[in-house]
Amino acid sequence: MFMLLIIYLVLIICIVFIIKLIIKSVNINNVKKYSKLLSELNQLNQIYASKFYPLSKKYFIKNECNSLQKFRINCNDSAIVNFMCLYVKEDENYWKNLCATVHYNNSLYRKYKSYLETIKKIHLGKSYDENSKHFPFLSKKRYLIIEEKLFQDLQLKPIIDLCVILTVSYTSPAGRNRYVCDFQMDVNSIEYVFKKIDERKKFEESVKYQRQLMTNAKRYEILKRDHFCCQICGRTQSDGAKLEVDHIIPVSKGGKTVNENLRTLCHECNQGKGNQYE
Ligand SMILES: [Zn+2]
Repeated sequence: MFMLLIIYLVLIICIVFIIKLIIKSVNINNVKKYSKLLSELNQLNQIYASKFYPLSKKYFIKNECNSLQKFRINCNDSAIVNFMCLYVKEDENYWKNLCATVHYNNSLYRKYKSYLETIKKIHLGKSYDENSKHFPFLSKKRYLIIEEKLFQDLQLKPIIDLCVILTVSYTSPAGRNRYVCDFQMDVNSIEYVFKKIDERKKFEESVKYQRQLMTNAKRYEILKRDHFCCQICGRTQSDGAKLEVDHIIPVSKGGKTVNENLRTLCHECNQGKGNQYE
């Protein structure tokens, strides 16, 4: 008798549960069918879906090191930037297009979002007030929850940022140990790499230009200014010194070919000074 009661009870709970599920699915279908907000969203999606450019969720780059020491060196921030500069330079146009696409999707998405805000303000909950006979099993509060959730779920979710994963790794010769370090970069990090590439190009150009400025006339002007004697040891050509014009701050360190940065040195003093900088 007691067992029978329990079986009945379980049966009733199951039936109630099933009925609740059915009502829930009827409710969701009715909201989908009669919600003006969702039909507006659907129209907006049809317009925008084809406008967003397809992008991959993640882009993977690998830097496999051939020694543990290199792996350790390659895992710090400035080494990552160096590696990325070389990597991106290989196909700069591809990466620039990728970033431009991200920006395009981003600005389009902002526009799409602002339309969403507008239709939400106008239509959220309104269809319930106008067609409440279509929602016999639904309170306004439940209706709003369902409508808002569907509104969120059915929105387009285009890719609006880059996700580049750089994996630095090292595998020991026997394959026993593997060291892996992942770095994630977004569109800003990649654009920082472009900036660095440009800076380096400009610097290389300026080094070349500063070397070109070092003409025979300039050389003579400095020798004459320094009375044809070494500015460190004081020797002259008559003492057997071979005189050279030296950049005090080397061109490779950003020094300019201007009188204030130039001086006369003998070959020996110039060699000695050169070693200081290396
Ligand atoms: Zn000297």
